[in-house]
Amino acid sequence: MTENLYDVLGIGIGPFNLSLAALLDPVESVKAVFFDKEESFEWHPGMLIEGTDLQVPFLADLVTFADPTSHYSFLNYIHKQKRLYPFFFFNRFNIPRKEYNEYAKWVINQLSSCQFAKEVVDVLDGDNCYQVVVKDMATQKTENIYAKHVVMGTGSVPLVPSALEEVVGEDVLHSSEYLHKREHIQQGERVTVVGSGQSAAEIFYDLLKNQTEYGYHLTWFTRSANFQQLEQSKLGQELFSTDYVNYFHSLPFEERMSTLEKLNPLRNGIESSTLKQIYDLLYHRSIHETVPVTIQASTEVQSIETRGNQYILQCHQKQKRNTFTYESDKVILATGYKPHIPSWIERFKHDIVWEDEKRFKVTQDYRIQFKQPRQHHLFTLTNIEHSHGSGATNLGLSVQRNQRIINKIAQKEIYPIHSDTTFQQFEIK
Ligand SMILES: Cc1cc2nc3c(=O)[nH]c(=O)nc-3n(C[C@H](O)[C@H](O)[C@H](O)COP(=O)(O)OP(=O)(O)OC[C@H]3O[C@@H](n4cnc5c(N)ncnc54)[C@H](O)[C@@H]3O)c2cc1C
Repeated sequence: MTENLYDVLGIGIGPFNLSLAALLDPVESVKAVFFDKEESFEWHPGMLIEGTDLQVPFLADLVTFADPTSHYSFLNYIHKQKRLYPFFFFNRFNIPRKEYNEYAKWVINQLSSCQFAKEVVDVLDGDNCYQVVVKDMATQKTENIYAKHVVMGTGSVPLVPSALEEVVGEDVLHSSEYLHKREHIQQGERVTVVGSGQSAAEIFYDLLKNQTEYGYHLTWFTRSANFQQLEQSKLGQELFSTDYVNYFHSLPFEERMSTLEKLNPLRNGIESSTLKQIYDLLYHRSIHETVPVTIQASTEVQSIETRGNQYILQCHQKQKRNTFTYESDKVILATGYKPHIPSWIERFKHDIVWEDEKRFKVTQDYRIQFKQPRQHHLFTLTNIEHSHGSGATNLGLSVQRNQRIINKIAQKEIYPIHSDTTFQQFEIK
């Protein structure tokens, strides 16, 4: 068993656990392994649209906030690619999303701790460790691996409103499938995008750019009252800091939940640059023609019926409170994501402290809290919005989360965490 016993085992290799793997690489005292069920790393491949950028500055790479001298920094990557001069002249903090994907792959290729095509199918409680059942996707065989600590980095899964789930298929799809099915979508005569987040806006813009070539009518519905811009003021951004995360974590549960609602504009909305691109293109194109688009907010798509090759959208104009039907032959549901919580968590259900029926209690250092104290910990990087705030899925905070986890596992301060990082105070003591 000892050769199969690790100090830490990470489930999922998305950016969050990948950052943990990169930060642990030089830490010899911690033996780590990470598994991902996919064959290889691709960062939200259905949304790697040409021309789209990472929504955080490149400094929020996998390691820099913990150690800017790390071999795995984005700057080192770009230097090794012999692209430092073009990047210098590019002169921007927001890097292409495609380049972030390439950078992450470059890091993975150097980390022997990261294994792909291996699905974690079960986690059982052991004697001061966890027994983790890992399935090899090629052979379908399972093996037991043991770990003192487990880090759940299983990310998110597409969220489709339950009333629309039944029609999801070739013509009605979630935004996460967009690039895989774009050719097919563009064959439609009437294409509808639903939602008002960044993904909806990027897809609408991409389809708008190619509209003249394909000739479809393009529609954009959202149930939100408007196509809202993401709040990106600098003081506002200070809420994506370690200081704010600590403050948020100290609030009572009800207060945290209502604060999340109030801070919605920080998380949900569209980058001003994307909104500008859309408007500018509409304006330019409208000089000589009526652009075949329909754009309407306050409109909820409540259900979708199939009629031959057509889809009939049952829509509700929320402010006028009237209902209407709308025909479309392709529909893209940019309706968001929800945390991916593995089913084996049920095993621990009665031992865990819950804040409500869906949300487990998470300690400040990202351990799922158990009723009885334990030495072997189950850390989570997913489903932490209720405990750690709006920045739960933000790449900029990923490194500080992992610093805390590493310090806890190693039982010493390997990566010091900075405080007093903001100009504003959250609580004068
Ligand atoms: C389209 C899109 C763009 C985004 N852009 C930004 C941005 O610009 N800036 C920002 O701050 N945030 C962004 N986010 C939010 C967030 O940063 C990303 O969702 C990020 O990928 C989260 O990383 P993760 O590691 O938690 O999960 P994921 O990237 O979702 O990775 C989870 C991994 O776990 C694996 N997995 C799941 N279950 C198992 C299992 N049982 N066994 C083995 N492996 C398993 C999956 O295969 C997957 O590879 C974006 C999100 C989306 C959807």
